[in-house]
Amino acid sequence: PNYQSVALVVGVTGIVGNSMAEILPLADTPGGPWKVYGVARRPRPSWNEDHPINYISCDVSDSDDVEAKLSPLTDITNIFYVTWTNRSTEKENCEANGKMLRNVLSVVIPNCPNLKHICLLTGRKHYVGPFERLWNTQAHDPPLTEDLPRLDCPNFYYTLEDILFEEVGKKAGLTWSVHRPGIIFGFSPYSMMNLVGTLSVYAAICKHEGSVLWFPGCKAAWDGYSDCSDADLIAEHQIWAAVEPYAKNEAFNVSNGDVFKWKHFWKALAEQFEVECGGYEEGKGVKLQELMKDKGPIWDEIVRKNGLLPNKLEDIGNWWFADLMLQSAVPLDTMNKSKEHGFLGFRNSKNSFLSWIDKVKAYKIVP
Ligand code: NAD
Repeated sequence: PNYQSVALVVGVTGIVGNSMAEILPLADTPGGPWKVYGVARRPRPSWNEDHPINYISCDVSDSDDVEAKLSPLTDITNIFYVTWTNRSTEKENCEANGKMLRNVLSVVIPNCPNLKHICLLTGRKHYVGPFERLWNTQAHDPPLTEDLPRLDCPNFYYTLEDILFEEVGKKAGLTWSVHRPGIIFGFSPYSMMNLVGTLSVYAAICKHEGSVLWFPGCKAAWDGYSDCSDADLIAEHQIWAAVEPYAKNEAFNVSNGDVFKWKHFWKALAEQFEVECGGYEEGKGVKLQELMKDKGPIWDEIVRKNGLLPNKLEDIGNWWFADLMLQSAVPLDTMNKSKEHGFLGFRNSKNSFLSWIDKVKAYKIVP
């Protein structure tokens, strides 16, 4: 086929990467038909195999591996950078993540004469600080807008942006966009931060043990407004920025465009797994990290009994992440800038929540 665009998706088995791999090859995707290269570290998992992409196992933190696997690719027109690595301090995050992005760009930019645009996925921590400082930094007052100044503390998102700007400057006409979602609702058993998958695993364990589905969070998260970013919507947003001339060299928030309350979604979660809905209880202080720490063997039994894909509990239950995300009210963003630049996409977050639960069941990650 005569491809109009050639994508390199870095992190193709991640929560956004898997949506990119699904949506880019579709016949009606803007800018298409797209040829897609997808990079991730591990061998290709079965649940990613349906997508017609060229899968490349490559560790982008290893510059020799990047040189070996990516320098033969000379037809890339667009990079979608949707990966990250987690270290114990933000200073280390800046170094490790900066190196990964630099490794990719320093090989692809000089080797691909037709490279036009780079989409970088970061997130809302741009405005409220990295994990290690989330609750004690001088975070911005929401609603969060793209023009707010950077916080005065290390943040690997700032490092990534600065490397992006520097590398893009080396090639005339090359453009960029930065995409800043909140909590992502999507599908990936390989993700380090998959809230819907993690809550589904928790609910499945409650079901198996006949226990109550308590809410592992605070009152503000239970009662207050939250929002989220659907992974397919983020994919559409990045593809929009890749093809729309008016979206070049800009950073954009990307969220569903509505709000919800966990006390409502929790009921829906309990219904999906047919467990007793416990909800939030004053003073209970439920933490998944604590509650789930010895459940590995029980999970293996659930996997066996239900013929699920053999995932380990510690891989698909991102307990630290769920605990952290539900520990405070969500600072909301605004989608005005995206709308003003012509992106009118949205999701109904309730439908988004339910459809990702359906998918995690359909792919036999949970019963
Ligand atoms: P993820 O953990 O879901 O996926 C990461 C992908 O990158 C996987 O395919 C993984 O295999 C791959 N990968 C990791 N290290 C690699 C390496 N060394 N070489 C090659 N591939 C490697 O990631 P994500 O959650 O989509 O994160 C992308 C960005 O989105 C991050 O900056 C993150 O902070 C941000 N973000 C995520 C969320 C969320 O809820 N998950 C919310 C807001 C912002």
